Amino acid sequence: MPRPKKAAPARPSGSKPTPQSEFELIAQLRARSTDARAQGARGLVCGIGDDAAVFRNTHGRELLVTSDLLVEDVDFRRADFEAGDIGHKAVAASLSDIAAMGGRPRWALLSIGVPRALWERPGFVIDLYEGAETLARLCGAFIIGGDISRTPERVVVDATLIGEAARGRSVRRAGARPGDQIFVTGTLGGAAGALRVFEHARSLSKSSPPEAQSFARVYSELARCQTRPAPRVEWGALLGERGLATAMIDLSDGLSSDLAHLCRESDAGALIEAASVPVNPLLTPARVARGDAFRRSLKKDALTLALHGGEDFELLFTVRPRDARKLRESLDGVPVTRIGVVRESREGVKILRGGREVRLAPSGFEHFRRGD
Ligand code: ADP
Ligand code: MG
Repeated sequence: MPRPKKAAPARPSGSKPTPQSEFELIAQLRARSTDARAQGARGLVCGIGDDAAVFRNTHGRELLVTSDLLVEDVDFRRADFEAGDIGHKAVAASLSDIAAMGGRPRWALLSIGVPRALWERPGFVIDLYEGAETLARLCGAFIIGGDISRTPERVVVDATLIGEAARGRSVRRAGARPGDQIFVTGTLGGAAGALRVFEHARSLSKSSPPEAQSFARVYSELARCQTRPAPRVEWGALLGERGLATAMIDLSDGLSSDLAHLCRESDAGALIEAASVPVNPLLTPARVARGDAFRRSLKKDALTLALHGGEDFELLFTVRPRDARKLRESLDGVPVTRIGVVRESREGVKILRGGREVRLAPSGFEHFRRGD
């Protein structure tokens, strides 16, 4: 047995500054896990820092492992989510990470923490579980385990997903090269638009519950972008299997932030064309009735929601120019759209808007943004 290394002297906790964001914490955790040779001997191909970890197993395939944590009142509110929605969303987020690695989801573990009052509410826990199970099965994965605990007040759900890819076929965030075309699946901004619906319904319900109810009915399709996101599992697997994507990430924090992650990992810059960004059509109805201030503001802000709103769980990926022709236009009714091009890193990440190129600052969701 190897002799344990002498532990580093403990530092007083006062000398450990609080990370400025979750991304800084991830960078610190990543820097700590540097024993690459030992990890490589155990088959680890890619650890902290991508959408999922990658192992090479003995049968020559790569295993992908990822987890996502949903916390009530931080990641969702129970007033907006049915029990089944909570389970669906937890699993959707992790399925999306497997898709973003170009793999196929196989196994899932679902851990839930609920307060006693909800545990005792008929159907709540089983509905939550069913929401998770139904989506997992639809995407080709089985739930094989998990854990259950009691929380003082709020619901917490963790979905861990295990997927696989052929050896060398998993797709990283790193890999984009200048000249590669940038694509996105589906449409963007729906999930952020839905948050506005929830907020508006809440303010209406204070003065007029019936009005709030009919408002919620009108916007139920948009609300589903939050509560029932569809991870792009088929697109992810296709892009991985065909070796078409040079880099890929899923849009959980928002296009501007996730593109920045992809560019940083690839040591690249990018130019996005605002006019090409596929905005969710639910945000931009052709006609807005006079006096419908809610719909008007949604329409006015549609591009901002599409650029910076999170949780659409679409895939953002890059393709060599010569391979772009090989890309099909849609899969199972989900289109892909070319939205820009990869550039040298010194050119930064920019957006072409109104004939001018301006910096596209990462402004998506962060749990611990400074000053929040
Ligand atoms: P995503 O939005 O794709 O789920 P995250 O930003 O949550 O990605 O995570 C990025 C990377 O950081 C992943 O490799 C993830 O496993 C790692 N990571 C996040 N939180 C932790 C943690 N608490 N401990 C170790 N690694 C973490
Ligand atoms: Mg991800």
